[in-house]
Amino acid sequence: MSNFSGKKYDSNIILNLKNINPNILICIDLASLCSTSPINLSNLHNPDFVALSFYKIFGYPTGIGALLIRKAGKKFNPTGFFGGSVDFYNVETGEYILKENFEQKFEIGTPNYHGIDLLRYGFKDLKRFGLF
Ligand SMILES: *Cc1c(COP(=O)(O)O)cnc(C)c1O
Repeated sequence: MSNFSGKKYDSNIILNLKNINPNILICIDLASLCSTSPINLSNLHNPDFVALSFYKIFGYPTGIGALLIRKAGKKFNPTGFFGGSVDFYNVETGEYILKENFEQKFEIGTPNYHGIDLLRYGFKDLKRFGLF
């Protein structure tokens, strides 16, 4: 769903793209749609990535979302490194070793622990209303 126009796209577009190029990687941005509609991932024809923003669902906290990745292959590596994402850095040579853990090597800076903790109240409400 477009955040600009509100237009909802037919999920068959994913099938059409995969028919044209079976190796194509599909990312669906659900940030807008998840604010107005329940999401059923099984209706989305197996996208490779799904991104959403929790404040669009719960109203709070901002700055926390989810990136669901179907298969995290070795081909996904950050193009640089950021605080907390490396095990080793040599300031003289610039050599660095990324953390082994997939999530940690993509983590930029300190996680929003307080905001992450608050998500449970949003999920609790969704459950209370039978939406999760
Ligand atoms: C809101 C929105 C975003 C941005 O999400 P943030 O969590 O604010 O960064 C991206 N894509 C769409 C379709 C959105 O509606």
